[in-house]
Amino acid sequence: MVVAIDGPAGVGKSTIAATTAQKIGFYYLNSGNFYRAVTKAVLKAHINQAKEEDIIAVANECNFNIQDNCLYLNGKSVEKVIHTDLIDNRVSFFSTIPEVRDIVNRNLKRISLHRDVVVEGRDIGTVVFPDAEVKIFLDAHIQIRTQRRFEQGISSLSREKIKKTIRSRDHSDKNKPVGSLKKAVDAFYIDTSYLTIDQVCEKVLSEIRKKQK
Ligand code: C5P
Repeated sequence: MVVAIDGPAGVGKSTIAATTAQKIGFYYLNSGNFYRAVTKAVLKAHINQAKEEDIIAVANECNFNIQDNCLYLNGKSVEKVIHTDLIDNRVSFFSTIPEVRDIVNRNLKRISLHRDVVVEGRDIGTVVFPDAEVKIFLDAHIQIRTQRRFEQGISSLSREKIKKTIRSRDHSDKNKPVGSLKKAVDAFYIDTSYLTIDQVCEKVLSEIRKKQK
């Protein structure tokens, strides 16, 4: 079974998707981390970032694997180095490139093959797994998403700057030529603004149970 969870930056997708996957014993895949890993590789390669073909060449060299729920890029665990302000700043741009999206999507499908998975992102229910048995779209007010990111303590930016980054990523994510952020018509919509993590997980689990029956 594929459970697709989509939604904008800072909505709590990772926490909800990882907790849900753990509760039902499904494999967990965070597609944003794949785009972040490509961004990391591009920044490390010191190429001309205005040249799409060079970015695609770097993305093509990326070898992705999951071990113990962590993403490995070319044999190295990258989870701890891909959530920086610099990567936050660049990832939406690199992930607009259709060939980069193709590379990430192929890897998501390869890893999900013959597995029960919870996959989270922006276009999972619309593009990557349009036939997913369960589709969830999470949303929350920008003010609340900003506060959640701020409280995570990962960013060194002020609340106001975090809000600006989120707003700019929302804009870029919603306006991508392919794989834009959008609710699939058959996705179950949850506004998480005033819900606890447990309450959201319970709603997601209830949708999964309905399909498992
Ligand atoms: O989920 P997260 O915020 O870590 O994702 C980082 C970025 O990767 C997003 O802002 C978005 O630009 C891109 N992304 C995407 N499609 C996905 C997942 C993430 O374009 N399925």
